[in-house]
Amino acid sequence: MKNFNQLIILTGPSGVGKGTIIEKIIKKDKRFWVSISATTRKPREGEVEGENYYFLSNSQFEEMIKNDLLIEWAKFADNYYGTLLKPVIEKINKGFKVILEIEVDGAEQIRKKFPDALSIFLMPPSKNELEKRIRNRGTENEESIIKRLERASFEIDSSKKFDHVITNLDVDETVKTILEVISL
Ligand code: 5GP
Repeated sequence: MKNFNQLIILTGPSGVGKGTIIEKIIKKDKRFWVSISATTRKPREGEVEGENYYFLSNSQFEEMIKNDLLIEWAKFADNYYGTLLKPVIEKINKGFKVILEIEVDGAEQIRKKFPDALSIFLMPPSKNELEKRIRNRGTENEESIIKRLERASFEIDSSKKFDHVITNLDVDETVKTILEVISL
């Protein structure tokens, strides 16, 4: 069992419900802080710069990689995504439990750099249900939906590398389970 639970990796296929779960955790417990990633993906309707993501151009993102400003980064569905080093370290030093909502390649990089990080994989009830959730969300075009679903199979295969695999059947139950796992 891990005895360090200040850095928490939350991974799971696109559409599994990571965002909703994190929102609930943060509302429930002020000791948690979620890292705001940088991305080259275009903002979705309603997404706010500096709240959902830092939205960057390709060259801005590549500059950040070059200057070692990211703890991890990966390409997902043709866009860059990465975690900013400085705010994460600052929040850890202030005693927050820091949640990184990232995909599997990034999770692997974090595990190597921070072997004590606690990793949780959020599993959809089924692939059909996942597809339904992505489609119902209505945020992606068909091409992006297909890329995300293809990636989901690979991500699900990687779930065995995680400390905990939790199936997201019911949001409130999942939040409860995650909070229990973190406070072990
Ligand atoms: P979305 O475009 O749906 O917001 O995110 C696509 C995928 O990228 C999701 O699986 C999400 O968890 C992941 N992601 C978001 N931020 C980061 C990050 O900073 N690093 C990595 N490696 N993945 C991220």
